[in-house]
Amino acid sequence: MSLLRQLIRGSTRWSSSRRLDIAIPARRPFHSMFRPHYTNVFPGAEIGSSRQRIEIENPATEEIICTVDAASPADVNAAVTAGMKAFQSGIWANKDVNHRFDVLIKLADMLKSRMSEFAKYESLQTGRPIREMNAQLARLPEWLTYHASLARTHTGRIPPFKGKMLNTLTYSPLGVVAQITPWNHPLLIAIKKIAPALAAGNSVVVKPSELAPVSVLLFAEMALEARIPEGVLNVVCGLGAETGKALCEDSRIAKIDLTGGTETGRAVCAAAGKNLIPVTAELGGKTPVLVFPDIEVERAVKGALFASFIAAGQTCVTGSRIIIHEDIYDQFAASFVAKANALRIGDPLDTKTQVSTVINRASIDRCQRFVDQALSEGGKLLCGGSPAPVNGKGHFFQPTVIEVTPEMALANEEVFGPVIALIRSPSPAHMLATANSTPFALGAALWTSSLSLAHSVSQQLDAGLVWVNTHHNNDPSSPWGGWKDSGMGKENGVEAFEGYLKCKSTVVNWGEAGGVDWFEDNKGARYG
Ligand code: NDP
Repeated sequence: MSLLRQLIRGSTRWSSSRRLDIAIPARRPFHSMFRPHYTNVFPGAEIGSSRQRIEIENPATEEIICTVDAASPADVNAAVTAGMKAFQSGIWANKDVNHRFDVLIKLADMLKSRMSEFAKYESLQTGRPIREMNAQLARLPEWLTYHASLARTHTGRIPPFKGKMLNTLTYSPLGVVAQITPWNHPLLIAIKKIAPALAAGNSVVVKPSELAPVSVLLFAEMALEARIPEGVLNVVCGLGAETGKALCEDSRIAKIDLTGGTETGRAVCAAAGKNLIPVTAELGGKTPVLVFPDIEVERAVKGALFASFIAAGQTCVTGSRIIIHEDIYDQFAASFVAKANALRIGDPLDTKTQVSTVINRASIDRCQRFVDQALSEGGKLLCGGSPAPVNGKGHFFQPTVIEVTPEMALANEEVFGPVIALIRSPSPAHMLATANSTPFALGAALWTSSLSLAHSVSQQLDAGLVWVNTHHNNDPSSPWGGWKDSGMGKENGVEAFEGYLKCKSTVVNWGEAGGVDWFEDNKGARYG
């Protein structure tokens, strides 16, 4: 029988996965939909595979659904080597963009045809309601088609240049890029990064979350079927502190694209800094939702409910602190709490379920700690506040609403769970100051019927994404990302695509051939 040991990791706050040190244990079957075990995806993975395996848990039943190889530093080295080999061969990087377009469109079509299957994998490994995963995954092919289209239409430029000079800007892929992704939207975030990187001609090594890697592995297998050449899209599963660290420390990596917590961002940037590797980092947030008194209250309540409790509050842009003008506070709070109390908690695979689990036991404990701290600081519990296992099982936590004041921890720190702060505010100026008072600058939303207020407040909000009378909208063409403790760089849009390219200036003197003889007496007094 294999030896099971609980790994205690210092680098991430929510993980508590189990890792097996030797071969697959005999107690099977896991979940019937899953293979009992998944290997990494890179040429040679079968032989190079580590003897360590991670158990993947279904957060709703606490059952182990499968195991996955944990890549050792030697495996990571092999995956990067495979990426380098593919890149240097030019088999993808130097292919005509029309070819890359065709393959990515084919991959998008294959994903469409397996959509409901992928949605189920996502739901089972994350505990997120199938209703959410069906809606989210239905849009993923758009990221592939958008970036494939950019590959075909993106052209160089000829910027103005003083004198008889012609400067042509040309773009080329970076090389082998590392992508490190979280568990909350496993496939969405991986595809947001993989699509521009591949469209631009790079080789990719993805390190998905140890907690929910299966859909990313299956997607990489499907990419091989779509004729992405071997070695171009590689996946190494494993713990961040080991597999992710080895990937970030490999000096052959040309860029790191991370989505994760702020502390992980600091660790990854420190490792990248040693090799001067550029980093795109999509990190944590504490998204404010500002509700102004001119709005129809019920409209804002419904919008804020969606902002707060989708994914059980586990998104980087969860509307986790709702700042409400005092003129409508009581009406808003009463309706918001009534609706939060009525949300249907249950089996993620039941299409009627509205809120399901958080990711694991550690996350339940974290939610509880925030509730306890808020109450000890003087916060008022309006609903929820406790774990809510279904039939004694599962990492369910009640949708929780607590009235707090702006200086309390719950108003400032990321919970990443269904624990939402309501803040009563005396004036628009106070609402704005409160919204801008955390170290994060990712998302923000505001609800008003005044066009002028909407524009003036959105301009002053310290956030990379502002939604007016809506929340959570995302589109492949719309840049996504924040600043301060929320990270740097952008996903989506031309910005993400160009982030996977190097730009070269080629300056041609079309005037006097040979240019200036700088060292001839009385000549060369003017440079440039
Ligand atoms: P983590 O920061 O725990 O992990 C993110 C990824 O980084 C995982 O694959 C993890 O590995 C890996 N990792 C951890 N430590 C290191 C390290 N030292 N070197 C390299 N890789 C490492 O985040 P979660 O997965 O828990 O996701 C939640 C966080 O992500 C929240 O803070 C949330 O706000 C943020 N997020 C941000 C988004 C944005 O767009 N800005 C979108 C979605 C989430 P492993 O976990 O496998 O051990």
